[in-house]
Amino acid sequence: MISEMDFRYCPRCSGRFQKKKENLLLCGKCHFHLYVNPRVTNGIILENENEEILLVKRKYPPKRDYWDIPGGFLDFKETIEESMSREMKEELGLQFHAFKYFHSYYGTYTFQGLRYHTLCIMFIGKIKHVTRLEPTDDVSEVRFFKWNRVPFSRLAFVEVRKGIKDYLLSFHQAVRSERAKNQR
Ligand SMILES: [Zn+2]
Repeated sequence: MISEMDFRYCPRCSGRFQKKKENLLLCGKCHFHLYVNPRVTNGIILENENEEILLVKRKYPPKRDYWDIPGGFLDFKETIEESMSREMKEELGLQFHAFKYFHSYYGTYTFQGLRYHTLCIMFIGKIKHVTRLEPTDDVSEVRFFKWNRVPFSRLAFVEVRKGIKDYLLSFHQAVRSERAKNQR
């Protein structure tokens, strides 16, 4: 597995890259600077009135058949709000704009042997249980999980695990009590 920092050749002159800093490659021949930054993604934790959290099952690699929250990478010239609305439409067939910012999380995403650094901008929202949901696009299944039945070991990404845990700690008194008990 490689990361973008392992790229060896300059895209401008094909000269050799040197690693100058943690996130900077410098061409030894033409002095082209290539900065490597995190890729921005969005994700949303949706909860219904029965205290159930909506998860989607990934249809394609990486992490096929693992559970995830709705979301994805941003397209060019797209704001975070626009990308969130697009993902909701694509993955759930929903027109949904009532999301609120929650938190951001670092992570990595490995695709075809290349590991990207990511920054997930995570949102939260309320959704009605009766809402008819159609798994589409890159999702094979949509399901609500009771807050204490979230399949943490089958979640696709570390930042999604962390986000849902933080969310439950923030909004579910029972989770807070449980944690306080264990820390005693
Ligand atoms: Zn060069």
